[in-house]
Amino acid sequence: MSIIIKNCISILDAKWFGINPEATIDNISIDSRSLQNSTHTLFFALVGPNNDAHHYIKDLIENGVKNFVVTHVPPNCEDSANFLIVENTLAALQQFAAYYRSLFEFPIIGLTGSNGKTIVKEWLNFLLSPDYNVIRSPKSYNSQVGVPLSVIAINEKHNLGIFEAGISTVSEMDKLETIIKPTIGVLTNIGSSHDEGFADLEEKIQQKMLLFQDAEVLIYQKSAQIEKHISAKTKAFSWSFKDENANVFVFKKEIASHETTLFYTYKGNSYELKIPFIDKASIENAISCLMVLLYFDYESDAIQSRMEMLFPVEMRLEVKNGINNCTIIDDSYSSDFQSLKIALDVLESQNQFQKKTVILSDIFQSGFPNEQLYAKVAQLIVSNKINRVIGIGTTISEFKDTFSNCITFKTTAEFISNFEKLDFSNESILIKGARSFQFEEIVTLLEEKTHETVLEINLNAISYNLNFFKSKLKPKVKIMVMVKAFGYGNGGLEIAKLLEHHKVDYLGVAFADEGISLKNGGIKLPIMVLNPESTSFSAIIQYGLEPEIYSLKGLHAFLKIAKQKNLSHFPIHIKLDTGMHRLGFEENTVDEMIAILKGNTNVRVQSILSHMATSDDSKYYDFALSQIVLYDKLSSKIMTELEIHPIRHILNTSGISNFPDTQFDMVRLGIGLYGVSNDAEEQKKLENVGTLKSIISQIRTIPAGDSVGYGRRFMADKQTKVATIPIGYADGIARAWGNGVGYVTIKEQKATILGSVCMDMLMVDVTEIDCAEGDEVIIFGENPNVSFIAEKLNTIPYEILTSISQRVKRVFYR
Ligand SMILES: *Cc1c(COP(=O)(O)O)cnc(C)c1O
Repeated sequence: MSIIIKNCISILDAKWFGINPEATIDNISIDSRSLQNSTHTLFFALVGPNNDAHHYIKDLIENGVKNFVVTHVPPNCEDSANFLIVENTLAALQQFAAYYRSLFEFPIIGLTGSNGKTIVKEWLNFLLSPDYNVIRSPKSYNSQVGVPLSVIAINEKHNLGIFEAGISTVSEMDKLETIIKPTIGVLTNIGSSHDEGFADLEEKIQQKMLLFQDAEVLIYQKSAQIEKHISAKTKAFSWSFKDENANVFVFKKEIASHETTLFYTYKGNSYELKIPFIDKASIENAISCLMVLLYFDYESDAIQSRMEMLFPVEMRLEVKNGINNCTIIDDSYSSDFQSLKIALDVLESQNQFQKKTVILSDIFQSGFPNEQLYAKVAQLIVSNKINRVIGIGTTISEFKDTFSNCITFKTTAEFISNFEKLDFSNESILIKGARSFQFEEIVTLLEEKTHETVLEINLNAISYNLNFFKSKLKPKVKIMVMVKAFGYGNGGLEIAKLLEHHKVDYLGVAFADEGISLKNGGIKLPIMVLNPESTSFSAIIQYGLEPEIYSLKGLHAFLKIAKQKNLSHFPIHIKLDTGMHRLGFEENTVDEMIAILKGNTNVRVQSILSHMATSDDSKYYDFALSQIVLYDKLSSKIMTELEIHPIRHILNTSGISNFPDTQFDMVRLGIGLYGVSNDAEEQKKLENVGTLKSIISQIRTIPAGDSVGYGRRFMADKQTKVATIPIGYADGIARAWGNGVGYVTIKEQKATILGSVCMDMLMVDVTEIDCAEGDEVIIFGENPNVSFIAEKLNTIPYEILTSISQRVKRVFYR
């Protein structure tokens, strides 16, 4: 891409406010953290319900970015950059993408449907890339933001595009259609997902079909409901299991243990096709691919030889713990230029270590001659401050000298035999390779080996939940997030990093040690320590943590040290006891506290807080209100007498939901961030964050009359299939969850726990479940969820979450 900024004025219908209209743009960004932002980046400052990228513009200018699309010019930036002022920056991004798309004429396959879009896209890419330079949407970039970003990556070397479009409500598809302008349409299927956004199925179909309004052909599973909406200029190219009149009639399926043979007629002839899947969804997705190949006039032999190589699509960029304290970012199934850029951004956002290594295979289908391609890759590597590149493949080996610190191997096997010599420690490692290189073997080598139980943390769900609660806050109300007890068991540092990125105002921890480990991990946000022991005051000061002071004794002790160290205005937080009776100044000690603080310059009252005992319980609504009233009274008095304006805060998660009018200046979000609510209705609106998973170690069948486990506490009354799972009470599974009370989920079915939970293992009933040793087991997550388990065990979700032992490995993913 090379566009002169002044030309964007008319493309975007923008107002110009700038210093250099001749500046050239060669890439687009919406991500303020990306190290790929440069002088030639055009940055679109998107505005979300809770996040406004205009806040980052000043920093970006300092880092050399010079061109922005904005709704207004932020203060003090007027003379230092070019601004294109528009009404809506997202609409402008879409307009820009539509303009950019119009510069290219090659065929574009547009995919939509309720399920299977990403899989069909990835498979088509695999099937067609031997013959085309394909540009496709990376991962599942199919939204109002994702589609423009995908399209903007087209360049003059591509000759086929594959883009997916996803919508969740009316009026979205029209916008995506003008950006993608598909010439070939593929409707994968119409299921029931996302129905909320549409009045009914009819409307959903009609909206999805808008993507194909100008297409020359539409591929779909034959149905009259769809055909009503095919426009006159579009040719129908349909398939069916039932209707002989479809262009492709699949009249028989033979399902064997690992493959399916399809028998179909096309243009009067019969054919057979074997595909390596047996489930219904994969079969339908494979037929969508078959249709595209037929439309492109591939011979049946070529179709067979390519389709038998189809593979399951793993779409997640996973962050894993590695050997020797490394962090691994596993993207071991694709290697094109565009997805490399995205993976590098993820590496950067992880930001765990200074030292960064990229293990990279040959890159395919860029369309560029290799010299040019690897020069561009080298440039990316430099801007992302990568210390070392390990190239694997014959082509990247030839271009070794393009990179400054690069070792190469011709094959993955050669890398593996040299593995011991390559020192990997205390660094972040991105593993990025085309499927044929089988980099999963490298991931296995580098991954830290513990037992097979993991707690998977969905970082996107955390962002989602944060935004859910932020949307309940009045303007200007700040947010402190509680990350005590290792982020409620979910992982302290990783979550703190994410929260720092989201610019929350404060973090809260229980003890000084927790705060110190966050500061050592590079967290810069202010951190309040709820329960600082006086022995930790020195460390608190040294690490710049902020203590909660809750008694006269604590106040005297802290002031003494503050004076010795000659501190000036060191921030402290005053905790009031308004009825919880846990920690805090009682009403009758407030006057003395005020007298002590009056005139003191060693410390500054940064905030005044209190904590509610019953914010989640409507039965004690009046009591909760009385706490708020007393808090308001005491904190007002302190403010008046000391003539200060500290941050005031009292609400925790349930408080945010139940007392929206008393947010004061800040709220303290805890359990809600981790996807748990004390309210059943609200629970439905949050996303599940943690999934505790394990595998089946062994399966056996026992006859009626035999028993399972210690104390023979389960007696089989019929022949029973028993699976053993390597997780027990030492991992934090309550013993009370055993003996028929609790269950785990295997293949989406309930498997009841048989007998007592052991220290490191438990046994479940899989008599009715078709499963094998090594299969995945869900201990908790979507089902059963933590709230359900807590209720059955007569406890609260907090206890379930924080009981999961530290020996269970945490894996973070987006
Ligand atoms: C833990 C804690 C919170 C957060 O409570 P949630 O119910 O998890 O939202 C807030 N304030 C204080 C003082 C806490 O100890």
